[in-house]
Amino acid sequence: MAAGARLTIDLAALAANYRTLCAQVAPARVGGVVKADGYGLGAALVARTLIAAGCEHLFVALQGEAEALIPHVGPVPVYILNGLLPGGEEACAQAGAIPVLNSLDQARRWGAEAERLGRRLPAVLQVDTGMSRMGLPPEEIDALLARPELLARFDMRWLISHLACGDDPADPANGAQEARFRAIAARFPDVPLALDNSGGAFQSRGHFNLVRAGIALYGGTPSTGPNPMRAVVALEARIAQLRTIPAGTGVGYGLTFQTTRETRIATIPVGYADGWPRCLGNRGSAFIAGTRVPVVGRVSMDSITLDVTDIAPEHLYPGAPVELIGPHQTIDAVAADAGTISYEILTQLSRRYERVVLPAPGLTSPPTPEQRSIPA
Ligand SMILES: *Cc1c(COP(=O)(O)O)cnc(C)c1O
Repeated sequence: MAAGARLTIDLAALAANYRTLCAQVAPARVGGVVKADGYGLGAALVARTLIAAGCEHLFVALQGEAEALIPHVGPVPVYILNGLLPGGEEACAQAGAIPVLNSLDQARRWGAEAERLGRRLPAVLQVDTGMSRMGLPPEEIDALLARPELLARFDMRWLISHLACGDDPADPANGAQEARFRAIAARFPDVPLALDNSGGAFQSRGHFNLVRAGIALYGGTPSTGPNPMRAVVALEARIAQLRTIPAGTGVGYGLTFQTTRETRIATIPVGYADGWPRCLGNRGSAFIAGTRVPVVGRVSMDSITLDVTDIAPEHLYPGAPVELIGPHQTIDAVAADAGTISYEILTQLSRRYERVVLPAPGLTSPPTPEQRSIPA
Protein backbone atom coordinates (compact mmCIF):
# COMPACT_ATOMS: atom_id res chain seq x y z
CA MET A 1 0.00 0.00 0.00
CA ALA A 2 1.85 3.04 -1.29
CA ALA A 3 -0.71 5.64 -0.17
CA GLY A 4 -0.96 7.04 3.35
CA ALA A 5 -4.52 5.86 3.78
CA ARG A 6 -7.31 4.01 2.07
CA LEU A 7 -10.60 5.77 1.33
CA THR A 8 -13.47 3.34 0.88
CA ILE A 9 -16.57 4.52 -0.96
CA ASP A 10 -19.62 2.33 -0.41
CA LEU A 11 -21.93 2.66 -3.41
CA ALA A 12 -24.56 0.37 -1.87
CA ALA A 13 -24.82 2.83 1.04
CA LEU A 14 -25.07 5.72 -1.43
CA ALA A 15 -27.91 3.99 -3.28
CA ALA A 16 -29.61 3.14 0.04
CA ASN A 17 -29.42 6.80 1.07
CA TYR A 18 -30.98 7.79 -2.24
CA ARG A 19 -33.89 5.40 -1.58
CA THR A 20 -34.27 6.64 2.00
CA LEU A 21 -34.56 10.20 0.72
CA CYS A 22 -37.05 9.16 -1.98
CA ALA A 23 -39.27 7.58 0.69
CA GLN A 24 -38.84 10.61 2.95
CA VAL A 25 -40.03 13.18 0.40
CA ALA A 26 -42.51 11.19 -1.74
CA PRO A 27 -44.42 12.08 -3.83
CA ALA A 28 -41.68 14.63 -4.56
CA ARG A 29 -38.69 13.26 -6.48
CA VAL A 30 -35.03 13.41 -5.51
CA GLY A 31 -32.35 14.98 -7.70
CA GLY A 32 -28.69 14.29 -6.94
CA VAL A 33 -26.34 17.17 -6.22
CA VAL A 34 -22.90 16.08 -7.46
CA LYS A 35 -21.05 19.41 -7.43
CA ALA A 36 -17.44 19.61 -6.24
CA ASP A 37 -16.74 16.23 -7.85
CA GLY A 38 -19.61 14.55 -6.05
CA TYR A 39 -18.67 16.07 -2.67
CA GLY A 40 -15.18 14.71 -3.20
CA LEU A 41 -16.18 11.12 -3.99
CA GLY A 42 -16.14 11.33 -7.81
CA ALA A 43 -18.99 12.99 -9.71
CA ALA A 44 -19.28 10.41 -12.50
CA LEU A 45 -19.12 7.48 -10.06
CA VAL A 46 -21.78 8.98 -7.82
CA ALA A 47 -23.99 10.11 -10.71
CA ARG A 48 -23.94 6.71 -12.39
CA THR A 49 -24.84 4.99 -9.12
CA LEU A 50 -27.71 7.39 -8.50
CA ILE A 51 -29.01 6.95 -12.03
CA ALA A 52 -28.96 3.20 -11.61
CA ALA A 53 -30.99 3.70 -8.42
CA GLY A 54 -33.57 5.73 -10.35
CA CYS A 55 -32.32 9.31 -10.16
CA GLU A 56 -33.39 11.46 -13.12
CA HIS A 57 -31.93 14.89 -12.30
CA LEU A 58 -28.36 15.96 -11.54
CA PHE A 59 -27.04 19.26 -10.22
CA VAL A 60 -23.49 20.63 -10.38
CA ALA A 61 -22.19 24.08 -9.44
CA LEU A 62 -20.06 24.99 -12.45
CA GLN A 63 -20.39 24.83 -16.20
CA GLY A 64 -17.05 23.01 -16.41
CA GLU A 65 -18.40 20.37 -14.03
CA ALA A 66 -21.45 19.92 -16.24
CA GLU A 67 -19.37 19.60 -19.40
CA ALA A 68 -17.19 16.95 -17.75
CA LEU A 69 -20.14 14.99 -16.35
CA ILE A 70 -22.54 14.95 -19.30
CA PRO A 71 -20.66 12.28 -21.31
CA HIS A 72 -21.07 9.89 -18.36
CA VAL A 73 -24.78 10.23 -17.70
CA GLY A 74 -26.58 9.60 -20.96
CA PRO A 75 -29.79 11.59 -21.34
CA VAL A 76 -30.12 12.58 -17.67
CA PRO A 77 -30.28 16.39 -17.45
CA VAL A 78 -27.40 18.19 -15.71
CA TYR A 79 -28.24 21.59 -14.22
CA ILE A 80 -25.65 24.27 -13.38
CA LEU A 81 -26.55 25.75 -9.99
CA ASN A 82 -24.17 28.70 -10.16
CA GLY A 83 -25.67 29.77 -13.47
CA LEU A 84 -24.15 31.16 -16.57
CA LEU A 85 -21.04 33.33 -16.62
CA PRO A 86 -20.70 35.81 -19.52
CA GLY A 87 -19.10 34.12 -22.53
CA GLY A 88 -20.18 30.59 -21.55
CA GLU A 89 -23.53 30.59 -23.35
CA GLU A 90 -22.52 28.93 -26.62
CA ALA A 91 -20.47 26.18 -24.95
CA CYS A 92 -23.27 25.56 -22.45
CA ALA A 93 -25.84 25.09 -25.21
CA GLN A 94 -23.43 22.94 -27.20
CA ALA A 95 -22.75 20.68 -24.22
CA GLY A 96 -26.46 20.29 -23.58
CA ALA A 97 -26.05 21.59 -20.02
CA ILE A 98 -29.00 23.37 -18.45
CA PRO A 99 -28.19 26.61 -16.64
CA VAL A 100 -29.94 27.82 -13.56
CA LEU A 101 -30.78 31.42 -14.44
CA ASN A 102 -29.93 33.36 -11.29
CA SER A 103 -30.39 36.91 -12.54
CA LEU A 104 -32.17 38.89 -15.21
CA ASP A 105 -28.81 39.36 -16.92
CA GLN A 106 -28.33 35.58 -17.15
CA ALA A 107 -31.87 35.21 -18.52
CA ARG A 108 -31.17 37.86 -21.17
CA ARG A 109 -27.94 36.18 -22.28
CA TRP A 110 -29.47 32.67 -22.39
CA GLY A 111 -32.41 34.14 -24.29
CA ALA A 112 -30.03 35.74 -26.78
CA GLU A 113 -28.33 32.37 -27.28
CA ALA A 114 -31.73 30.76 -27.90
CA GLU A 115 -32.51 33.44 -30.48
CA ARG A 116 -29.14 32.95 -32.16
CA LEU A 117 -29.75 29.19 -32.37
CA GLY A 118 -33.33 29.68 -33.48
CA ARG A 119 -34.76 27.29 -30.88
CA ARG A 120 -36.04 27.26 -27.32
CA LEU A 121 -33.43 26.37 -24.73
CA PRO A 122 -34.00 24.45 -21.49
CA ALA A 123 -33.53 26.49 -18.33
CA VAL A 124 -34.13 26.54 -14.60
CA LEU A 125 -35.15 29.77 -12.90
CA GLN A 126 -33.89 30.46 -9.38
CA VAL A 127 -35.57 33.12 -7.28
CA ASP A 128 -34.18 34.57 -4.08
CA THR A 129 -36.61 34.00 -1.21
CA GLY A 130 -34.37 35.31 1.52
CA MET A 131 -30.81 34.02 1.34
CA SER A 132 -29.40 36.96 -0.66
CA ARG A 133 -26.95 34.73 -2.48
CA MET A 134 -28.24 33.58 -5.86
CA GLY A 135 -31.50 33.92 -7.70
CA LEU A 136 -33.63 36.77 -9.00
CA PRO A 137 -34.60 39.36 -6.39
CA PRO A 138 -38.25 40.54 -6.39
CA GLU A 139 -37.71 43.50 -8.75
CA GLU A 140 -35.99 41.27 -11.33
CA ILE A 141 -38.83 38.74 -11.12
CA ASP A 142 -41.25 41.57 -11.98
CA ALA A 143 -39.00 42.67 -14.84
CA LEU A 144 -38.74 39.13 -16.23
CA LEU A 145 -42.50 38.57 -16.07
CA ALA A 146 -42.94 41.84 -17.97
CA ARG A 147 -41.03 40.26 -20.89
CA PRO A 148 -43.13 37.32 -22.10
CA GLU A 149 -41.15 37.20 -25.38
CA LEU A 150 -37.97 36.47 -23.37
CA LEU A 151 -39.67 33.82 -21.22
CA ALA A 152 -41.00 32.21 -24.40
CA ARG A 153 -37.40 31.44 -25.47
CA PHE A 154 -37.04 28.99 -22.60
CA ASP A 155 -38.26 25.50 -21.96
CA MET A 156 -38.56 26.22 -18.22
CA ARG A 157 -37.89 22.96 -16.38
CA TRP A 158 -37.99 24.11 -12.75
CA LEU A 159 -38.58 27.10 -10.57
CA ILE A 160 -36.20 26.79 -7.63
CA SER A 161 -35.06 28.60 -4.51
CA HIS A 162 -32.68 27.66 -1.71
CA LEU A 163 -33.08 27.58 2.07
CA ALA A 164 -30.65 29.51 4.25
CA CYS A 165 -31.47 27.48 7.39
CA GLY A 166 -32.66 24.17 5.95
CA ASP A 167 -30.65 22.13 8.46
CA ASP A 168 -32.62 23.60 11.39
CA PRO A 169 -36.32 22.75 11.11
CA ALA A 170 -37.09 25.03 14.09
CA ASP A 171 -35.74 28.14 12.40
CA PRO A 172 -38.59 30.52 11.44
CA ALA A 173 -36.64 31.58 8.33
CA ASN A 174 -37.77 28.29 6.69
CA GLY A 175 -41.46 29.12 6.88
CA ALA A 176 -40.82 32.68 5.68
CA GLN A 177 -38.88 31.42 2.66
CA GLU A 178 -41.49 28.78 1.88
CA ALA A 179 -44.28 31.40 1.95
CA ARG A 180 -42.35 33.71 -0.40
CA PHE A 181 -41.61 30.76 -2.69
CA ARG A 182 -45.30 29.83 -2.88
CA ALA A 183 -46.25 33.41 -3.72
CA ILE A 184 -43.68 33.59 -6.53
CA ALA A 185 -44.63 30.12 -7.80
CA ALA A 186 -48.21 31.30 -8.28
CA ARG A 187 -46.88 33.72 -10.89
CA PHE A 188 -45.24 30.88 -12.86
CA PRO A 189 -48.10 28.43 -13.25
CA ASP A 190 -47.18 25.06 -14.78
CA VAL A 191 -43.49 25.27 -13.86
CA PRO A 192 -42.50 22.43 -11.47
CA LEU A 193 -41.05 23.52 -8.14
CA ALA A 194 -37.97 22.66 -6.08
CA LEU A 195 -37.06 24.32 -2.79
CA ASP A 196 -35.44 21.80 -0.47
CA ASN A 197 -31.89 20.59 0.01
CA SER A 198 -31.04 17.64 2.30
CA GLY A 199 -32.00 19.56 5.40
CA GLY A 200 -35.27 20.77 3.91
CA ALA A 201 -36.14 17.17 3.03
CA PHE A 202 -36.38 16.42 6.75
CA GLN A 203 -38.71 19.29 7.59
CA SER A 204 -42.22 18.06 8.23
CA ARG A 205 -44.16 19.61 5.35
CA GLY A 206 -44.61 19.01 1.63
CA HIS A 207 -41.53 19.09 -0.60
CA PHE A 208 -42.97 20.49 -3.84
CA ASN A 209 -41.93 18.49 -6.93
CA LEU A 210 -38.21 17.88 -6.46
CA VAL A 211 -35.62 17.89 -3.69
CA ARG A 212 -31.99 18.68 -4.47
CA ALA A 213 -30.08 16.36 -2.16
CA GLY A 214 -26.37 16.50 -1.55
CA ILE A 215 -24.91 15.81 1.88
CA ALA A 216 -27.54 13.29 2.98
CA LEU A 217 -26.72 11.09 -0.03
CA TYR A 218 -23.10 11.06 1.12
CA GLY A 219 -24.00 10.08 4.68
CA GLY A 220 -23.73 13.46 6.40
CA THR A 221 -26.31 14.57 8.95
CA PRO A 222 -28.96 16.44 7.00
CA SER A 223 -30.61 18.07 9.96
CA THR A 224 -30.60 18.48 13.73
CA GLY A 225 -31.29 15.21 15.54
CA PRO A 226 -30.08 11.66 14.89
CA ASN A 227 -28.66 10.91 11.46
CA PRO A 228 -30.89 8.53 9.47
CA MET A 229 -28.37 8.16 6.62
CA ARG A 230 -25.85 5.36 6.10
CA ALA A 231 -22.13 6.14 6.14
CA VAL A 232 -20.72 6.15 2.59
CA VAL A 233 -17.04 6.78 3.23
CA ALA A 234 -14.48 5.20 5.51
CA LEU A 235 -10.86 6.27 5.87
CA GLU A 236 -8.25 3.94 7.23
CA ALA A 237 -4.62 4.92 7.68
CA ARG A 238 -1.75 2.74 8.79
CA ILE A 239 0.88 3.28 11.42
CA ALA A 240 4.12 4.38 9.75
CA GLN A 241 6.32 4.49 12.82
CA LEU A 242 6.23 3.97 16.60
CA ARG A 243 8.36 5.65 19.25
CA THR A 244 8.48 5.57 23.02
CA ILE A 245 9.57 8.88 24.53
CA PRO A 246 10.14 9.95 28.14
CA ALA A 247 8.09 12.42 30.18
CA GLY A 248 8.92 16.05 29.43
CA THR A 249 9.48 15.55 25.68
CA GLY A 250 8.02 17.79 22.96
CA VAL A 251 6.15 16.38 19.95
CA GLY A 252 5.81 17.84 16.46
CA TYR A 253 6.19 21.32 14.99
CA GLY A 254 6.44 24.01 17.64
CA LEU A 255 6.68 21.25 20.29
CA THR A 256 3.11 22.20 21.20
CA PHE A 257 2.58 18.88 23.00
CA GLN A 258 4.78 18.00 25.97
CA THR A 259 4.57 14.54 27.45
CA THR A 260 3.79 14.19 31.16
CA ARG A 261 4.53 10.48 31.28
CA GLU A 262 6.48 7.96 29.25
CA THR A 263 4.51 8.03 26.03
CA ARG A 264 4.09 5.80 23.01
CA ILE A 265 3.74 7.89 19.85
CA ALA A 266 2.40 6.49 16.57
CA THR A 267 3.00 8.52 13.43
CA ILE A 268 0.51 8.06 10.60
CA PRO A 269 1.08 9.28 7.05
CA VAL A 270 -1.95 11.58 6.67
CA GLY A 271 -1.75 15.34 7.09
CA TYR A 272 -3.33 18.63 6.17
CA ALA A 273 -2.26 18.16 2.55
CA ASP A 274 -4.70 15.25 2.57
CA GLY A 275 -7.50 17.45 3.80
CA TRP A 276 -7.12 16.39 7.42
CA PRO A 277 -7.72 19.76 9.08
CA ARG A 278 -4.65 21.37 10.62
CA CYS A 279 -6.84 22.74 13.41
CA LEU A 280 -7.19 19.16 14.71
CA GLY A 281 -3.70 19.38 16.22
CA ASN A 282 -3.89 18.53 19.95
CA ARG A 283 -7.64 18.21 19.47
CA GLY A 284 -8.72 15.52 17.04
CA SER A 285 -8.91 11.76 17.44
CA ALA A 286 -8.32 8.50 15.68
CA PHE A 287 -9.33 4.99 16.72
CA ILE A 288 -7.18 1.89 17.02
CA ALA A 289 -8.97 -1.42 17.61
CA GLY A 290 -12.05 0.59 18.53
CA THR A 291 -10.31 2.69 21.20
CA ARG A 292 -9.93 6.46 20.94
CA VAL A 293 -6.41 7.79 20.63
CA PRO A 294 -5.83 11.56 20.75
CA VAL A 295 -3.88 13.54 18.19
CA VAL A 296 -0.93 15.06 20.00
CA GLY A 297 1.12 17.89 18.56
CA ARG A 298 0.33 19.73 15.38
CA VAL A 299 -1.03 18.16 12.21
CA SER A 300 1.85 18.28 9.70
CA MET A 301 1.48 18.47 5.94
CA ASP A 302 1.90 14.71 5.53
CA SER A 303 1.59 13.20 8.99
CA ILE A 304 -0.13 13.15 12.37
CA THR A 305 1.18 11.94 15.71
CA LEU A 306 -1.09 9.97 18.04
CA ASP A 307 -0.68 9.14 21.74
CA VAL A 308 -1.15 5.37 21.74
CA THR A 309 0.27 4.70 25.23
CA ASP A 310 -2.99 3.11 26.41
CA ILE A 311 -3.41 0.77 23.43
CA ALA A 312 -2.55 -2.91 23.85
CA PRO A 313 0.81 -3.68 22.18
CA GLU A 314 -0.63 -6.32 19.84
CA HIS A 315 -2.44 -3.53 17.94
CA LEU A 316 0.71 -1.44 17.56
CA TYR A 317 3.10 -2.28 14.73
CA PRO A 318 4.17 -0.60 11.53
CA GLY A 319 1.29 -1.05 9.08
CA ALA A 320 -1.36 -1.50 11.81
CA PRO A 321 -4.75 -0.04 10.85
CA VAL A 322 -5.91 3.31 12.25
CA GLU A 323 -9.50 4.44 11.79
CA LEU A 324 -9.86 8.12 10.84
CA ILE A 325 -13.42 7.90 9.50
CA GLY A 326 -15.49 4.81 10.20
CA PRO A 327 -17.86 3.20 12.69
CA HIS A 328 -16.31 4.97 15.70
CA GLN A 329 -15.74 8.38 14.11
CA THR A 330 -18.26 9.75 11.59
CA ILE A 331 -17.59 12.56 9.13
CA ASP A 332 -19.83 14.70 11.34
CA ALA A 333 -17.71 13.92 14.42
CA VAL A 334 -14.50 14.88 12.60
CA ALA A 335 -16.20 18.06 11.39
CA ALA A 336 -17.42 18.95 14.89
CA ASP A 337 -13.90 18.53 16.33
CA ALA A 338 -12.58 20.77 13.56
CA GLY A 339 -15.27 23.41 14.03
CA THR A 340 -16.65 22.85 10.53
CA ILE A 341 -19.29 20.81 8.71
CA SER A 342 -19.12 17.38 7.10
CA TYR A 343 -19.37 19.01 3.65
CA GLU A 344 -15.92 20.53 4.12
CA ILE A 345 -14.37 17.30 5.42
CA LEU A 346 -15.71 15.34 2.40
CA THR A 347 -14.82 17.87 -0.28
CA GLN A 348 -11.24 18.17 1.00
CA LEU A 349 -10.53 14.40 1.01
CA SER A 350 -7.19 13.82 -0.61
CA ARG A 351 -6.52 12.63 -4.11
CA ARG A 352 -3.48 10.95 -2.57
CA TYR A 353 -5.56 8.32 -0.79
CA GLU A 354 -5.90 4.91 -2.29
CA ARG A 355 -9.56 4.75 -3.33
CA VAL A 356 -11.52 1.54 -3.02
CA VAL A 357 -15.03 1.47 -4.42
CA LEU A 358 -17.48 -1.07 -3.02
CA PRO A 359 -20.06 -1.79 -5.73
CA ALA A 360 -23.82 -1.65 -5.32
CA PRO A 361 -24.97 -5.17 -6.21
CA GLY A 362 -27.91 -5.35 -8.58
CA LEU A 363 -27.53 -1.82 -9.91
CA THR A 364 -26.75 -1.39 -13.58
CA SER A 365 -25.38 2.03 -14.41
CA PRO A 366 -25.48 3.64 -17.86
CA PRO A 367 -22.69 2.78 -20.32
CA THR A 368 -19.44 4.72 -20.02
CA PRO A 369 -18.43 7.06 -22.88
CA GLU A 370 -15.97 4.38 -24.05
CA GLN A 371 -18.64 1.70 -24.09
CA ARG A 372 -21.02 3.96 -25.95
CA SER A 373 -18.50 4.78 -28.66
CA ILE A 374 -18.22 1.09 -29.57
CA PRO A 375 -20.60 0.60 -32.53
CA ALA A 376 -23.38 -1.86 -31.70
C1 LIG B 1 -25.30 22.48 -2.66
C2 LIG B 1 -26.71 22.78 -2.94
C3 LIG B 1 -27.70 21.83 -2.67
C4 LIG B 1 -27.44 20.56 -1.90
O1 LIG B 1 -27.35 20.87 -0.53
P1 LIG B 1 -27.20 19.75 0.60
O2 LIG B 1 -27.32 20.54 1.84
O3 LIG B 1 -25.85 19.18 0.42
O4 LIG B 1 -28.28 18.77 0.39
C5 LIG B 1 -29.00 22.10 -3.07
N1 LIG B 1 -29.29 23.26 -3.71
C6 LIG B 1 -28.36 24.21 -3.97
C7 LIG B 1 -28.78 25.46 -4.65
C8 LIG B 1 -27.05 24.01 -3.57
O5 LIG B 1 -26.14 24.96 -3.81
